[in-house]
Amino acid sequence: MSDIIQLLPDFVANQIAAGEVIQRPASVVKELLENAIDAGAGKIQLIIKDAGRTLIQVTDDGCGMSPADARLCFERHATSKIADSQDLFKIRTKGFRGEALASIASVAQVEMKTRQHDQDLGTKVRIEGADVSECEPCQATEGTSFMVRNLFYNVPARRQFLKSDQVETRHIMDEFQRVALAHPDVAMSMHHNGTEVYHLTTGTPRQRVVGLFGNKYDERIIPVSEATDVVSINGFAGKPEFSRKTRGEQFLFVNNRFIKHHRFHHAVVSAMEGLIPHGNHPMYVIYLDIDPSYVDVNIHPTKTEVKFRDEQAIYLILRSAIKKSLGQFQVAPTLDFEAESSLNIPPLDKNRPIAVPQINVDPEYNPFRNDQKRSVPGMAGRKSTFDRQASKEWKEFYQILKQDREEEPAQLSTGLEDTSHKPEVGASVFQVGRNYIVAPIKSGLMVIDQQQAHQRILYEEFMNQDGQHQQHAQQLLYPQNLQLSPGDHALIVSHLEDLKGMGFDVEEFGANDLIVRGLPADSRQQDAGQLVDLIVNALKEGGEHERPGQHALAMGLARGASIRSGQVLQLAEMRELIDRLFACEVPYYGPTGRQAIVTFTPDDLSSKFE
Ligand code: ADP
Ligand code: MG
Repeated sequence: MSDIIQLLPDFVANQIAAGEVIQRPASVVKELLENAIDAGAGKIQLIIKDAGRTLIQVTDDGCGMSPADARLCFERHATSKIADSQDLFKIRTKGFRGEALASIASVAQVEMKTRQHDQDLGTKVRIEGADVSECEPCQATEGTSFMVRNLFYNVPARRQFLKSDQVETRHIMDEFQRVALAHPDVAMSMHHNGTEVYHLTTGTPRQRVVGLFGNKYDERIIPVSEATDVVSINGFAGKPEFSRKTRGEQFLFVNNRFIKHHRFHHAVVSAMEGLIPHGNHPMYVIYLDIDPSYVDVNIHPTKTEVKFRDEQAIYLILRSAIKKSLGQFQVAPTLDFEAESSLNIPPLDKNRPIAVPQINVDPEYNPFRNDQKRSVPGMAGRKSTFDRQASKEWKEFYQILKQDREEEPAQLSTGLEDTSHKPEVGASVFQVGRNYIVAPIKSGLMVIDQQQAHQRILYEEFMNQDGQHQQHAQQLLYPQNLQLSPGDHALIVSHLEDLKGMGFDVEEFGANDLIVRGLPADSRQQDAGQLVDLIVNALKEGGEHERPGQHALAMGLARGASIRSGQVLQLAEMRELIDRLFACEVPYYGPTGRQAIVTFTPDDLSSKFE
């Protein structure tokens, strides 16, 4: 029998490799951007058309290539970045496999112009399929420009598997963001179909975050910084209150390479345990610097998964670094006093005689001053305002505490009798982080999640409708007409009577429409459409309950109508909320089972000071 094994032609081998390396337009973007970074670019321009299907162009002002290299770079395993296997253990560049350009050239029409800085002429190479159709000297600016046209023109199956333009563009933006975050010292821009999507000048990491995600992120992030022998950690964590259900704002870099790492993600999330709702993901941009020989980046062709020698140590250091910054910038009430109402101190009653505080404290003493000296990036300019403002706020705060102490001597004592105690009438309560109500109780301190608490209240009130007592409706100035899908319409209509009982003044109107004339009096949500949406969802979700219909309605209404986290509450509102919460059967939990109240005994507190 004759021999049957043959070597694959290069072109076929490249196409097979391309299947791994180039899955979609975003993969091309990633490879070209990374090559530009590796070439030492100070400025990179990305231009795409039709989500990268028609054109992906990357222009850099990096080192450029000699005429010979310009031809060679499209060969498989052609790389300038490693010479032998030892080099694999000291990789500082993005690429090293020499596969990307060969792969791209096998599935697209590529044109490249490149010129080295000390040369007068550049080189132009044009490649289509396996063939170099052009390779000649040309005029070119310093650096390199790649134009990749008609991706997958010769692999129709791949082309068909691409998602909508919107999805593919999203992937491209993700890659762009990753490279941009890793290299704030490189100016970068992106255009899509003639529109500028990003325009990033060089700057600090914080400026880069703000340039990519918007000005409001300046307020939302706190710096993280820790240096140890094993790893250096820098970057930012999003404040817990801005965590989200959806992922997508988690950026972890190792030696400036974006990676995904389940354990390290967990380290960040677990540092915020108790501060973010279960299932939410905090935003973060964390840069780890590790000796490259302790990192194995070679386990995956697209290199977002990485192995570490000291994984557990890094995990612990990362978690404690995040905790430390939360302590410095977030959890302690030395929050940013310039940002309004991060700590809402109730105004003092004018008629109340103000007792001069006798407590022996030094109001100028700033427990965080030592830490401040360590010069946290981005905080340098703030110190003086911080001191002045903080000591003023602290003075007021002590006065309030002092008054309470005098009026109710037992209140702050260390009695551990009963943790389930409602705060005393008239106890000073205040709001923290626009989400938590803090009140002293006999046995210590109580912290109430305003949203969970209000949901509990509304849920029980809606559940306790017995048909005879109708909840008050708050009439809308203009009745709202809502159009629903036939299915949703039918669902609501079948619960019309119950809804009316709950104060939802709603009527059927034609085959698919509803007219809403009034909402439950207690509702914080004035948009009837959104409220109906939540009710429909709750009805569809169902759930275990002896009165499933009523339960679902009450859940939907409670979710839709409740106070949200982020809302500033007045003193009277907070007091009313506490009163009504403690009138509930189950004050300690929201209707979905999340905790509504957390208490801290003096022991809990003292353990924080160890
Ligand atoms: P790798 O990046 O793994 O080395 P690539 O196929 O991406 O492999 O690139 C092959 C080689 O082409 C690189 O090693 C580099 O020498 C050269 N090259 C690619 N892009 C550029 C660029 N933008 N500027 C200068 N040289 C480049
Ligand atoms: Mg490369």
